[in-house]
Amino acid sequence: MRKTFAIIGLGRFGGSVCRTLIESDQEVLAIDNDEDRVNEYMNIATHAVVANAQDEITLRSLGLRNFDHVIIAIGEDIQASILVTLMAKEMGVPRITAKAQNEYHARVLEKIGADVVVHPERDMGIRLAHKLTSKNILDFIELSEDYTLAEVVMTNRAFFDRTIGEINFRQNFNLTIVAIRRGKKKLIVSPAADERILEDDVLLVVGTNEDVELFDNSME
Ligand code: ATP
Repeated sequence: MRKTFAIIGLGRFGGSVCRTLIESDQEVLAIDNDEDRVNEYMNIATHAVVANAQDEITLRSLGLRNFDHVIIAIGEDIQASILVTLMAKEMGVPRITAKAQNEYHARVLEKIGADVVVHPERDMGIRLAHKLTSKNILDFIELSEDYTLAEVVMTNRAFFDRTIGEINFRQNFNLTIVAIRRGKKKLIVSPAADERILEDDVLLVVGTNEDVELFDNSME
């Protein structure tokens, strides 16, 4: 279903969110107070306007509260980012995602009602460090503070050619296999207990961070 998004701030982060949403056929209003930035997105976003988002009257006249989701991607000017988030919240925007510059900024944004706070540099750093220190984890997404969805390559020969049921996967690892990626093309979604696990299968598993780590460590 097509949703409406407003992106405030067209730096690298806001700009890349804008392009990706448009590629997914969503409706995007792009706002920035820098005319050059707006010109860059004129032919990309559904609409692009030069406006100072700190001005409440401007935000109201743009109909910000009618958008399904507002993304506040102002980085350096922390005061502007906080003020705009607060105004969007007060206008009753249903979903607000705000970009934080540091931990304190993130905490303030959460407190004033941003639904999702992203901290791209920190998040990428954590992600990369996990990938560098884990044995077989190709990628992962933190679902919450405690739960992770991870892609783990199967290299433990003890499991090759055995079914999920025979391995007693859920009981032994406390993890759920959401999908198995086999080779470049095959994706087995929600595999049944009689599905066999093959060498180099990529398992998409969900579980606590500890259980995902234990499973990763069980690989050869
Ligand atoms: P990135 O890392 O995503 O490139 P950044 O963290 O360096 O960005 P900034 O460059 O500070 O973030 O801000 C992103 C964009 O937000 C800029 O294009 C800037 O012009 C715009 N911006 C800043 N303040 C406002 C405002 N009050 N109203 C509208 N746009 C704004």
